[in-house]
Amino acid sequence: MTERTASTQTPLGRAPIPLSARAVLTVDLAAMRANWARLNEVSGRAECAGVLKADAYGLGLAQVARALTNEGCKTFFVATIEEGRAAREVQPGATIYVLDGLLPGAEAHYTGFDLRPVLSSLAEVREWAALSRTRGRPLPAALHIDTGMNRLGMPQSELHRLVAEPDLLSTFDLTLVMSHLACADEPPNPMNRRQRDRFNALRALLPPAPASLSNSGGTFLGPSYHFDVVRPGIALYGGRAHEDKPNPMRSVVRLTAKILQVREVLPGETIGYGAIFKVQRPSRIATIACGYADGFLRALSVATGKAGPVGYIGDYPVPIVGRVSMDFITVDVTDVPAELTRRGGWVEVMGQRVTVDDLTDRAGTIGYELLSRLGPRVLRVYEGA
Ligand SMILES: *Cc1c(COP(=O)(O)O)cnc(C)c1O
Repeated sequence: MTERTASTQTPLGRAPIPLSARAVLTVDLAAMRANWARLNEVSGRAECAGVLKADAYGLGLAQVARALTNEGCKTFFVATIEEGRAAREVQPGATIYVLDGLLPGAEAHYTGFDLRPVLSSLAEVREWAALSRTRGRPLPAALHIDTGMNRLGMPQSELHRLVAEPDLLSTFDLTLVMSHLACADEPPNPMNRRQRDRFNALRALLPPAPASLSNSGGTFLGPSYHFDVVRPGIALYGGRAHEDKPNPMRSVVRLTAKILQVREVLPGETIGYGAIFKVQRPSRIATIACGYADGFLRALSVATGKAGPVGYIGDYPVPIVGRVSMDFITVDVTDVPAELTRRGGWVEVMGQRVTVDDLTDRAGTIGYELLSRLGPRVLRVYEGA
Protein backbone atom coordinates (compact mmCIF):
# COMPACT_ATOMS: atom_id res chain seq x y z
CA MET A 1 0.00 0.00 0.00
CA THR A 2 2.70 2.40 1.08
CA GLU A 3 4.71 1.35 -1.93
CA ARG A 4 1.83 2.10 -4.29
CA THR A 5 1.35 5.55 -2.85
CA ALA A 6 5.04 6.20 -3.06
CA SER A 7 5.13 5.23 -6.71
CA THR A 8 2.27 7.57 -7.61
CA GLN A 9 4.26 10.36 -6.01
CA THR A 10 7.14 10.09 -8.41
CA PRO A 11 6.76 12.20 -11.50
CA LEU A 12 6.77 9.21 -13.80
CA GLY A 13 5.39 6.12 -12.11
CA ARG A 14 8.25 3.69 -11.77
CA ALA A 15 10.39 5.01 -14.61
CA PRO A 16 13.83 6.08 -13.45
CA ILE A 17 14.40 9.77 -12.85
CA PRO A 18 18.00 10.92 -12.31
CA LEU A 19 18.64 11.56 -8.63
CA SER A 20 19.87 15.04 -9.55
CA ALA A 21 16.46 16.03 -10.90
CA ARG A 22 14.70 18.69 -8.83
CA ALA A 23 11.78 19.84 -10.99
CA VAL A 24 10.32 17.61 -13.67
CA LEU A 25 7.90 18.31 -16.50
CA THR A 26 6.30 15.04 -17.53
CA VAL A 27 4.95 15.20 -21.06
CA ASP A 28 2.33 12.63 -21.99
CA LEU A 29 3.01 12.18 -25.69
CA ALA A 30 0.16 9.71 -26.08
CA ALA A 31 -2.29 12.34 -24.81
CA MET A 32 -0.73 14.90 -27.12
CA ARG A 33 -1.09 12.59 -30.10
CA ALA A 34 -4.71 11.99 -29.14
CA ASN A 35 -5.21 15.77 -29.08
CA TRP A 36 -3.73 16.06 -32.57
CA ALA A 37 -5.98 13.25 -33.82
CA ARG A 38 -8.97 15.04 -32.29
CA LEU A 39 -8.07 18.34 -33.96
CA ASN A 40 -7.48 16.50 -37.22
CA GLU A 41 -10.98 15.10 -36.95
CA VAL A 42 -12.55 18.42 -35.97
CA SER A 43 -10.89 20.12 -38.94
CA GLY A 44 -12.59 17.75 -41.36
CA ARG A 45 -10.97 17.70 -44.77
CA ALA A 46 -8.41 20.35 -43.86
CA GLU A 47 -4.91 19.22 -43.10
CA CYS A 48 -3.96 19.49 -39.42
CA ALA A 49 -0.48 20.95 -38.96
CA GLY A 50 1.38 21.38 -35.67
CA VAL A 51 2.84 24.58 -34.22
CA LEU A 52 6.24 23.94 -32.63
CA LYS A 53 7.41 27.46 -31.81
CA ALA A 54 9.20 28.22 -28.53
CA ASP A 55 10.45 24.64 -28.13
CA ALA A 56 6.93 23.34 -28.72
CA TYR A 57 5.50 25.64 -26.06
CA GLY A 58 8.20 24.51 -23.65
CA LEU A 59 7.50 20.80 -24.00
CA GLY A 60 10.50 19.95 -26.19
CA LEU A 61 10.50 20.47 -29.96
CA ALA A 62 12.26 17.27 -31.02
CA GLN A 63 10.13 14.86 -29.00
CA VAL A 64 6.90 16.66 -29.87
CA ALA A 65 7.75 16.79 -33.60
CA ARG A 66 8.56 13.07 -33.63
CA ALA A 67 5.37 12.13 -31.82
CA LEU A 68 3.20 14.28 -34.09
CA THR A 69 4.86 12.86 -37.17
CA ASN A 70 4.13 9.34 -35.94
CA GLU A 71 0.50 10.35 -35.61
CA GLY A 72 0.42 11.58 -39.22
CA CYS A 73 1.29 15.27 -38.98
CA LYS A 74 3.26 16.45 -42.02
CA THR A 75 3.39 20.23 -41.73
CA PHE A 76 4.93 22.27 -38.94
CA PHE A 77 5.11 25.94 -38.08
CA VAL A 78 7.97 27.39 -36.07
CA ALA A 79 8.75 30.99 -35.20
CA THR A 80 12.48 31.16 -35.89
CA ILE A 81 15.14 29.88 -38.24
CA GLU A 82 16.84 28.07 -35.35
CA GLU A 83 13.62 26.31 -34.44
CA GLY A 84 13.20 25.41 -38.10
CA ARG A 85 16.66 23.93 -38.17
CA ALA A 86 15.91 21.89 -35.04
CA ALA A 87 12.66 20.64 -36.54
CA ARG A 88 14.41 19.76 -39.81
CA GLU A 89 16.99 17.68 -37.95
CA VAL A 90 14.34 15.36 -36.58
CA GLN A 91 11.91 15.57 -39.53
CA PRO A 92 13.76 15.33 -42.84
CA GLY A 93 10.53 14.91 -44.82
CA ALA A 94 8.26 17.47 -43.18
CA THR A 95 7.08 20.80 -44.56
CA ILE A 96 8.32 23.50 -42.20
CA TYR A 97 7.16 27.13 -42.23
CA VAL A 98 9.01 29.90 -40.37
CA LEU A 99 6.53 32.45 -39.02
CA ASP A 100 9.14 35.18 -38.50
CA GLY A 101 9.24 35.50 -42.26
CA LEU A 102 12.37 36.29 -44.20
CA LEU A 103 15.15 37.88 -42.18
CA PRO A 104 17.08 40.25 -44.44
CA GLY A 105 20.15 38.59 -45.87
CA ALA A 106 19.39 35.25 -44.24
CA GLU A 107 17.97 33.55 -47.34
CA ALA A 108 20.58 30.79 -47.32
CA HIS A 109 19.41 29.62 -43.92
CA TYR A 110 16.00 28.81 -45.33
CA THR A 111 17.16 27.03 -48.43
CA GLY A 112 19.97 25.27 -46.54
CA PHE A 113 17.48 23.55 -44.25
CA ASP A 114 14.59 23.42 -46.69
CA LEU A 115 12.53 25.87 -44.62
CA ARG A 116 9.70 27.92 -46.08
CA PRO A 117 9.50 31.53 -44.94
CA VAL A 118 6.07 32.99 -44.23
CA LEU A 119 6.43 36.18 -46.27
CA SER A 120 4.72 39.21 -44.77
CA SER A 121 5.59 42.15 -46.95
CA LEU A 122 6.27 43.15 -50.52
CA ALA A 123 9.95 43.58 -49.61
CA GLU A 124 10.13 39.96 -48.43
CA VAL A 125 8.32 38.75 -51.52
CA ARG A 126 10.76 40.64 -53.74
CA GLU A 127 13.76 39.12 -51.95
CA TRP A 128 12.34 35.59 -52.17
CA ALA A 129 11.47 36.06 -55.83
CA ALA A 130 14.97 37.40 -56.51
CA LEU A 131 16.48 34.37 -54.81
CA SER A 132 14.26 32.08 -56.86
CA ARG A 133 15.52 33.76 -60.00
CA THR A 134 19.15 33.36 -58.88
CA ARG A 135 18.61 29.71 -58.06
CA GLY A 136 16.76 29.14 -61.30
CA ARG A 137 13.70 27.58 -59.71
CA PRO A 138 10.57 28.77 -57.90
CA LEU A 139 11.31 28.42 -54.17
CA PRO A 140 8.40 27.55 -51.88
CA ALA A 141 7.02 30.09 -49.40
CA ALA A 142 3.81 31.05 -47.65
CA LEU A 143 2.26 34.49 -47.90
CA HIS A 144 0.75 35.94 -44.74
CA ILE A 145 -1.91 38.54 -45.50
CA ASP A 146 -3.13 40.79 -42.75
CA THR A 147 -6.85 40.67 -42.00
CA GLY A 148 -6.95 42.87 -38.93
CA MET A 149 -4.27 41.67 -36.53
CA ASN A 150 -1.83 44.40 -37.60
CA ARG A 151 1.17 42.49 -36.33
CA LEU A 152 2.83 40.52 -39.12
CA GLY A 153 1.15 40.07 -42.47
CA MET A 154 1.01 41.95 -45.74
CA PRO A 155 -1.14 45.08 -45.52
CA GLN A 156 -3.94 45.37 -48.07
CA SER A 157 -2.26 48.24 -49.90
CA GLU A 158 0.82 46.10 -50.53
CA LEU A 159 -1.30 43.15 -51.56
CA HIS A 160 -2.87 45.25 -54.30
CA ARG A 161 0.58 46.24 -55.51
CA LEU A 162 1.67 42.60 -55.45
CA VAL A 163 -1.33 41.54 -57.50
CA ALA A 164 -0.44 44.24 -60.02
CA GLU A 165 2.94 42.54 -60.56
CA PRO A 166 2.00 39.01 -61.64
CA ASP A 167 5.61 38.25 -62.59
CA LEU A 168 6.55 38.47 -58.95
CA LEU A 169 3.94 35.92 -57.96
CA SER A 170 4.90 33.49 -60.67
CA THR A 171 8.61 33.64 -59.81
CA PHE A 172 8.31 31.82 -56.49
CA ASP A 173 6.18 28.88 -55.44
CA LEU A 174 3.23 30.14 -53.40
CA THR A 175 2.46 27.02 -51.34
CA LEU A 176 0.18 28.60 -48.72
CA VAL A 177 -1.81 31.78 -48.20
CA MET A 178 -2.45 32.43 -44.56
CA SER A 179 -3.73 34.90 -42.02
CA HIS A 180 -4.07 34.85 -38.24
CA LEU A 181 -7.10 35.41 -35.99
CA ALA A 182 -6.87 37.99 -33.21
CA CYS A 183 -9.83 36.80 -31.11
CA ALA A 184 -10.24 33.08 -31.83
CA ASP A 185 -10.32 32.37 -28.09
CA GLU A 186 -13.61 34.33 -27.90
CA PRO A 187 -16.07 32.55 -30.23
CA PRO A 188 -18.80 35.23 -30.13
CA ASN A 189 -16.38 38.03 -30.98
CA PRO A 190 -17.49 39.56 -34.31
CA MET A 191 -13.83 40.08 -35.17
CA ASN A 192 -13.64 36.37 -36.08
CA ARG A 193 -16.22 36.62 -38.84
CA ARG A 194 -14.80 39.91 -40.03
CA GLN A 195 -11.33 38.42 -40.43
CA ARG A 196 -12.65 35.29 -42.13
CA ASP A 197 -14.64 37.34 -44.64
CA ARG A 198 -11.70 39.64 -45.30
CA PHE A 199 -9.44 36.60 -45.75
CA ASN A 200 -11.82 35.16 -48.35
CA ALA A 201 -11.99 38.46 -50.22
CA LEU A 202 -8.24 39.02 -50.22
CA ARG A 203 -7.11 35.54 -51.14
CA ALA A 204 -9.48 35.64 -54.12
CA LEU A 205 -7.14 38.28 -55.59
CA LEU A 206 -4.26 35.80 -55.57
CA PRO A 207 -3.58 32.78 -57.75
CA PRO A 208 -5.19 29.65 -56.27
CA ALA A 209 -3.15 28.26 -53.38
CA PRO A 210 -3.91 26.27 -50.23
CA ALA A 211 -5.22 28.55 -47.49
CA SER A 212 -4.87 28.61 -43.70
CA LEU A 213 -6.52 30.88 -41.13
CA SER A 214 -7.04 29.05 -37.86
CA ASN A 215 -5.02 28.41 -34.75
CA SER A 216 -6.47 26.16 -32.02
CA GLY A 217 -9.34 28.50 -31.22
CA GLY A 218 -10.21 28.99 -34.89
CA THR A 219 -10.27 25.24 -35.48
CA PHE A 220 -13.19 25.03 -33.05
CA LEU A 221 -15.10 27.87 -34.74
CA GLY A 222 -16.53 25.60 -37.42
CA PRO A 223 -15.90 24.47 -40.99
CA SER A 224 -15.90 27.96 -42.52
CA TYR A 225 -12.70 28.61 -40.56
CA HIS A 226 -10.87 25.46 -41.62
CA PHE A 227 -9.80 26.21 -45.21
CA ASP A 228 -7.03 23.79 -46.27
CA VAL A 229 -4.70 23.77 -43.27
CA VAL A 230 -5.31 24.42 -39.58
CA ARG A 231 -2.45 25.45 -37.29
CA PRO A 232 -3.15 24.42 -33.70
CA GLY A 233 -0.57 24.93 -30.98
CA ILE A 234 -1.93 25.28 -27.46
CA ALA A 235 -4.72 22.70 -27.85
CA LEU A 236 -2.17 20.04 -28.81
CA TYR A 237 -0.45 20.67 -25.51
CA GLY A 238 -3.66 20.40 -23.50
CA GLY A 239 -4.26 24.13 -23.06
CA ARG A 240 -7.61 25.84 -23.38
CA ALA A 241 -8.43 27.17 -26.85
CA HIS A 242 -11.67 28.95 -25.93
CA GLU A 243 -12.23 31.12 -22.90
CA ASP A 244 -15.13 30.30 -20.57
CA LYS A 245 -15.72 26.83 -21.95
CA PRO A 246 -14.85 23.37 -20.68
CA ASN A 247 -11.56 22.30 -22.25
CA PRO A 248 -12.11 19.24 -24.47
CA MET A 249 -8.42 18.42 -24.82
CA ARG A 250 -6.54 15.79 -22.86
CA SER A 251 -4.12 16.94 -20.20
CA VAL A 252 -0.54 16.62 -21.47
CA VAL A 253 1.79 18.16 -18.89
CA ARG A 254 2.54 17.55 -15.25
CA LEU A 255 5.01 19.65 -13.28
CA THR A 256 6.45 18.13 -10.12
CA ALA A 257 9.04 19.40 -7.70
CA LYS A 258 11.18 17.58 -5.18
CA ILE A 259 10.81 18.13 -1.45
CA LEU A 260 14.09 19.56 -0.15
CA GLN A 261 13.16 20.13 3.48
CA VAL A 262 10.19 19.83 5.81
CA ARG A 263 9.95 21.95 8.95
CA GLU A 264 7.63 22.52 11.88
CA VAL A 265 6.45 26.11 12.11
CA LEU A 266 4.63 27.57 15.09
CA PRO A 267 1.65 29.97 14.97
CA GLY A 268 2.77 33.59 14.64
CA GLU A 269 5.83 32.75 12.59
CA THR A 270 6.04 33.76 8.97
CA ILE A 271 7.23 32.01 5.82
CA GLY A 272 9.60 33.26 3.17
CA TYR A 273 10.32 36.64 1.58
CA GLY A 274 8.31 39.61 2.68
CA ALA A 275 6.92 37.56 5.57
CA ILE A 276 3.58 37.77 3.78
CA PHE A 277 2.27 34.49 5.12
CA LYS A 278 1.75 34.21 8.89
CA VAL A 279 1.19 30.69 10.19
CA GLN A 280 -2.13 30.30 12.07
CA ARG A 281 -1.76 26.80 13.54
CA PRO A 282 1.13 24.46 14.33
CA SER A 283 2.18 23.58 10.78
CA ARG A 284 4.49 21.47 8.71
CA ILE A 285 5.88 23.34 5.74
CA ALA A 286 7.71 21.71 2.83
CA THR A 287 10.14 23.63 0.66
CA ILE A 288 10.07 22.27 -2.87
CA ALA A 289 12.51 22.76 -5.72
CA CYS A 290 10.77 24.89 -8.29
CA GLY A 291 10.65 28.66 -8.44
CA TYR A 292 10.17 31.53 -10.80
CA ALA A 293 13.57 30.85 -12.40
CA ASP A 294 12.01 27.57 -13.48
CA GLY A 295 9.02 29.39 -14.91
CA PHE A 296 6.61 29.00 -12.02
CA LEU A 297 4.83 32.32 -11.64
CA ARG A 298 5.76 34.60 -8.76
CA ALA A 299 2.27 36.07 -9.04
CA LEU A 300 1.05 32.77 -7.53
CA SER A 301 2.52 33.75 -4.14
CA VAL A 302 0.02 33.45 -1.29
CA ALA A 303 -0.38 35.85 1.65
CA THR A 304 -2.09 35.05 4.95
CA GLY A 305 -5.82 34.57 4.60
CA LYS A 306 -5.72 34.37 0.82
CA ALA A 307 -6.77 31.26 -1.06
CA GLY A 308 -3.98 30.28 -3.42
CA PRO A 309 -3.24 27.37 -5.70
CA VAL A 310 -2.71 23.91 -4.26
CA GLY A 311 -0.22 21.24 -5.18
CA TYR A 312 -0.74 17.54 -4.59
CA ILE A 313 1.12 14.81 -2.79
CA GLY A 314 -0.67 11.68 -3.95
CA ASP A 315 -4.30 12.64 -3.38
CA TYR A 316 -3.56 15.13 -0.61
CA PRO A 317 -3.89 18.80 -1.54
CA VAL A 318 -1.01 20.95 -0.29
CA PRO A 319 -1.69 24.69 -0.46
CA ILE A 320 1.07 27.03 -1.58
CA VAL A 321 1.99 29.43 1.23
CA GLY A 322 4.14 32.56 1.10
CA ARG A 323 6.13 33.97 -1.78
CA VAL A 324 7.24 31.95 -4.76
CA SER A 325 10.98 32.67 -4.85
CA MET A 326 13.60 32.16 -7.55
CA ASP A 327 14.30 28.53 -6.72
CA PHE A 328 11.62 27.42 -4.29
CA ILE A 329 7.95 27.17 -3.45
CA THR A 330 6.70 26.50 0.08
CA VAL A 331 3.63 24.34 0.61
CA ASP A 332 1.61 23.47 3.71
CA VAL A 333 1.83 19.71 4.30
CA THR A 334 0.36 19.71 7.81
CA ASP A 335 -2.55 17.48 6.78
CA VAL A 336 -0.46 14.95 4.86
CA PRO A 337 0.78 11.78 6.61
CA ALA A 338 4.43 12.28 7.53
CA GLU A 339 5.61 9.23 5.59
CA LEU A 340 4.44 10.92 2.37
CA THR A 341 6.30 14.13 3.00
CA ARG A 342 9.82 12.82 3.25
CA ARG A 343 12.77 14.72 1.85
CA GLY A 344 13.24 13.62 -1.77
CA GLY A 345 9.51 13.04 -2.29
CA TRP A 346 7.58 14.82 -5.02
CA VAL A 347 4.85 17.45 -5.08
CA GLU A 348 2.75 17.96 -8.19
CA VAL A 349 2.23 21.68 -8.74
CA MET A 350 0.54 21.51 -12.15
CA GLY A 351 -1.26 18.70 -13.93
CA GLN A 352 -4.69 17.27 -14.48
CA ARG A 353 -6.10 18.52 -11.17
CA VAL A 354 -4.59 21.98 -11.15
CA THR A 355 -4.20 22.77 -14.82
CA VAL A 356 -1.95 25.26 -16.49
CA ASP A 357 -5.06 27.38 -17.17
CA ASP A 358 -6.16 27.21 -13.50
CA LEU A 359 -2.78 28.61 -12.53
CA THR A 360 -2.57 31.28 -15.17
CA ASP A 361 -6.18 32.44 -14.66
CA ARG A 362 -5.23 33.15 -11.05
CA ALA A 363 -2.03 34.86 -12.05
CA GLY A 364 -3.62 37.06 -14.70
CA THR A 365 -1.81 35.50 -17.62
CA ILE A 366 -2.33 32.67 -20.12
CA GLY A 367 -1.23 29.05 -20.33
CA TYR A 368 0.96 29.86 -23.32
CA GLU A 369 3.14 32.11 -21.20
CA LEU A 370 3.63 29.68 -18.34
CA LEU A 371 4.42 26.73 -20.61
CA SER A 372 6.76 28.58 -22.94
CA ARG A 373 8.68 30.02 -20.01
CA LEU A 374 9.35 26.76 -18.18
CA GLY A 375 13.10 26.99 -17.84
CA PRO A 376 16.02 24.79 -18.84
CA ARG A 377 16.44 23.63 -15.21
CA VAL A 378 13.17 21.72 -15.49
CA LEU A 379 13.88 18.17 -16.63
CA ARG A 380 11.57 17.10 -19.45
CA VAL A 381 10.48 13.49 -19.18
CA TYR A 382 8.38 11.78 -21.84
CA GLU A 383 5.84 9.04 -21.49
CA GLY A 384 3.56 7.40 -24.05
CA ALA A 385 6.00 7.88 -26.91
C1 LIG B 1 1.21 30.63 -32.36
C2 LIG B 1 0.49 30.61 -33.64
C3 LIG B 1 -0.45 29.62 -33.93
C4 LIG B 1 -0.90 28.61 -32.88
O1 LIG B 1 -1.76 29.27 -31.99
P1 LIG B 1 -2.51 28.51 -30.81
O2 LIG B 1 -3.43 29.54 -30.25
O3 LIG B 1 -1.47 28.09 -29.86
O4 LIG B 1 -3.23 27.36 -31.40
C5 LIG B 1 -1.01 29.58 -35.19
N1 LIG B 1 -0.66 30.50 -36.12
C6 LIG B 1 0.22 31.49 -35.88
C7 LIG B 1 0.53 32.48 -36.94
C8 LIG B 1 0.82 31.58 -34.63
O5 LIG B 1 1.68 32.57 -34.37
